[in-house]
Amino acid sequence: MSRRCPAPAVFVYAESSEQVSKFAHLWPVEYSDPGYHDSFQFLGNCLTMPHKHALVILQFIILGVVAGGAAGWIWGEAMLQIEWLGKLFLDTLKMLIIPLIFSAVISGVASMGDIRKLGRLGGYTVSYYLLTTGIAVGIGLVAVNLLRPGDGLNGTFGDISENIAAKQDVGMSDIILSMVSPNLIASAAETQLLPIIVFAILLSAALTTLGRSGEHVIEFFNGFNEAMMKLVTWIMYFAPVGIFSLIAARLGKAGGGDGFLKEIEAVGMLIVTVLSGLGLHFLVLFAILILLGGRGLPFLIAMLRALFTAFGTASSSATLPLTMECARESKLDPRAVRFVLPLGSTVNMNGTALYEAVAAMFIAQAYGIELGLGQQTIVLVTATLSAIGAAGIPEAGLVTMVIVLKAVGLPLDGIALLLSVDWFLDRFRTSVNVWGDAVGAAVIDRVINKKS
Ligand code: ASP
Repeated sequence: MSRRCPAPAVFVYAESSEQVSKFAHLWPVEYSDPGYHDSFQFLGNCLTMPHKHALVILQFIILGVVAGGAAGWIWGEAMLQIEWLGKLFLDTLKMLIIPLIFSAVISGVASMGDIRKLGRLGGYTVSYYLLTTGIAVGIGLVAVNLLRPGDGLNGTFGDISENIAAKQDVGMSDIILSMVSPNLIASAAETQLLPIIVFAILLSAALTTLGRSGEHVIEFFNGFNEAMMKLVTWIMYFAPVGIFSLIAARLGKAGGGDGFLKEIEAVGMLIVTVLSGLGLHFLVLFAILILLGGRGLPFLIAMLRALFTAFGTASSSATLPLTMECARESKLDPRAVRFVLPLGSTVNMNGTALYEAVAAMFIAQAYGIELGLGQQTIVLVTATLSAIGAAGIPEAGLVTMVIVLKAVGLPLDGIALLLSVDWFLDRFRTSVNVWGDAVGAAVIDRVINKKS
């Protein structure tokens, strides 16, 4: 028998009853009735992208990455003419970020019903972030000590850019302060996600204490969030072209294949170190996915569209809408998708942390400064924290690296060594950042399902 996709609101209301918890009727997955759950799954499938389309888009995205690389390599600066197509894709994604995050976090947190559940889930989530980020930095430190990419580079360092120089006074307290904002509109305008998320969590917690009037607001944001996710499925069709043009234009900007090779000449060993560290961490996360998340290759394949988008855009925040859509298609619990992924996109940056640790050690090696075990421990802690403070935007890690360098007394001018290759390495670390978020959501999904 064929079933038509019902209108979500009608469907949810039709099935609701006085069951389970106070807010259960807003959250069909909370119901113990298996038939109801089944219907919810069916509804979920209707709202996500058809599986066949997803696979075709993935193939086109891979083609976009390869063709974009080849076109940028061969035609160089000529590809700048299609840069606007990539910008169009990027801006369309960015347009969704704030409304998507706001509605997702409100409905995700409210769906927990009981605020104590949020505390527990938040505890698991933050522990996962800290553990995996710590592992990433550890891998980076081992790789940089073994391969020693900075040795023999002593000599001329250029000037660091104004952007980085302006951040010289950034400290730990700034990371904590960045959790709230005196002006939410200004934060939204600058895509500073953390204060928006903190506000949405607090608002949602307050709404769950208000009874019926709070429920109306939550229902509104549930519907709003579904609409946002629908928009994401539409935008995904444009991803192959957008990613093609972003990659081709960026390589074009670097002067095509020849220009790019010149840029990376001096720091080839750094690239090898960072990429092998990131590759290894990717595999460690895959092992965590299998062991703690109970999922495997199909989940990785489902997430590939988001991972390639991260590679194309170099921004975990801009990729977030796609990450959420891919996670939904993998049938992760809505609470994991709506709470863990937005938070992860700005707080959980495994790739960035690994890069910052490697880069700090690389600079020390290039200056001929030996950092002992104690100082490398400081690098471990500060790289973990400064990755948390980094925004999910291109080359943000380069800026927060100042914190690591200052903590161990390394010269900030060393950052100049990284400037030419950072845009390239950024794409790989952003993909690992997004992969870390996705695995985290899968792990938390398992925790939620075991508990309920
Ligand atoms: N571009 C990275 C991200 O958006 C942050 C960074 O490492 O620069 O996740």
